[in-house]
Amino acid sequence: MNKNAFLYDYDVEKVRADFPILQQEHHAGVPLVYLDNAASSQKPLPVIAALDDYYRRYNANVHRGIHKLSEEATAAYEDARLKVKRFINAGSKREVIFTRGTTESINLVAQTWGRANLGRGDVVVATMMEHHSNIVPWQILAAEKGFTIRYVPVLRDGTLDLRAYDRYLHEENVKLVTVMHTSNMLGTVNPVQAMAQQAHNAGAVVVVDGAQSTPHMPVDMQALNVDFFAFSGHKMCGPTGIGVLYGKRALLEAMPPWMGGGDMISRVTLEGSTWNELPYKFEAGTPIIAGAIGLGYAIDYLSAVGMEKIQAHEREIGAYALERLAEVPGVTVYGPEAGQKGAVAAFTLQGIHAHDVAQILDAEGVAVRAGHHCAMPLHDHFGIPATARASFYLYNTMAEVDALIAGLYKAKQAFAV
Ligand code: PMP
Repeated sequence: MNKNAFLYDYDVEKVRADFPILQQEHHAGVPLVYLDNAASSQKPLPVIAALDDYYRRYNANVHRGIHKLSEEATAAYEDARLKVKRFINAGSKREVIFTRGTTESINLVAQTWGRANLGRGDVVVATMMEHHSNIVPWQILAAEKGFTIRYVPVLRDGTLDLRAYDRYLHEENVKLVTVMHTSNMLGTVNPVQAMAQQAHNAGAVVVVDGAQSTPHMPVDMQALNVDFFAFSGHKMCGPTGIGVLYGKRALLEAMPPWMGGGDMISRVTLEGSTWNELPYKFEAGTPIIAGAIGLGYAIDYLSAVGMEKIQAHEREIGAYALERLAEVPGVTVYGPEAGQKGAVAAFTLQGIHAHDVAQILDAEGVAVRAGHHCAMPLHDHFGIPATARASFYLYNTMAEVDALIAGLYKAKQAFAV
């Protein structure tokens, strides 16, 4: 493969110039090669500027004040909601609830829809590849409500055992299916549209963890036709502390609120309270105003670059990374082949612990993550305690893949393996 020739129009150097953090040296004389994007992405200038502008110029609480600053803050906050609605093609702004992130979004569904609808004799279907944030909230609720959780196994090639999934739907009293769109460890892109259709045929509600898909590919709520969809701003060029729960309006209307407090009420008396309309029913207290505005600018940025182009760029980088990793003796990469997965490579290097691999790479300026990546059951399933993970995004280059590979050879040399 010609490392510099892209078959499509994508100027990665122009993109990189928008990310100040990428311009710095990691250590003296060593440039930063940031390959920890599955954990969190870097932020482009327009997002940083939007946060600065909000705090400098129109910081105020929303939905309350009648003064100019509050009106401007409210308009910007609600404009961000509209941007999210368009970005994911939700049916209405009312279906877009701002949360702190994927974790909070899933907990919200568990504590509202789940608490109201799940009980003894019911089954929740999750998968063995889920992030802890899509396992633990259901376990907490199951301990209280007495329902059962079934986990769809993962096959050796890193895809889901869809035959087992089908069996669960036919043989068990499945009330809810919860599945990740893209795996943060294997990179597997699950067929959530087809899985949702099957679940609906069985009368189950569908929750999708979109934390690793929304930043990297176009996602369309009408096409996927799932009931709930969760994602985080910080993985898609936005600030930390902001995320989204999309939910179908009819379900959200029927659900009780989760957290109580200001903004989520219509009327409060000492005897009881009534709830605000959607989406405010689920946004108790002062919301994450700057975070939402920043996410809106991140969406503008990603949209201007183009989600299809980002996806195509990552396909090239991901395929090149897998090709180069396969050349390194002792490296095992987990998950499907290139073309079937996101630009994520979780791997082991024989004879060297993942943490040591990451430490040596860090000395070379290459930032990767090492550990279980909040997917302990998946690591148990593959019989490994930890992996090192390189994950790519719109600003990564082929040369950075080469830097990763050079770092791995350094590690092998240092450990004489
Ligand atoms: N699901 C997946 C697949 C993830 O990768 C992550 C982040 N590591 C989460 C959920 C949790 O996201 P957050 O920490 O932003 O709530």
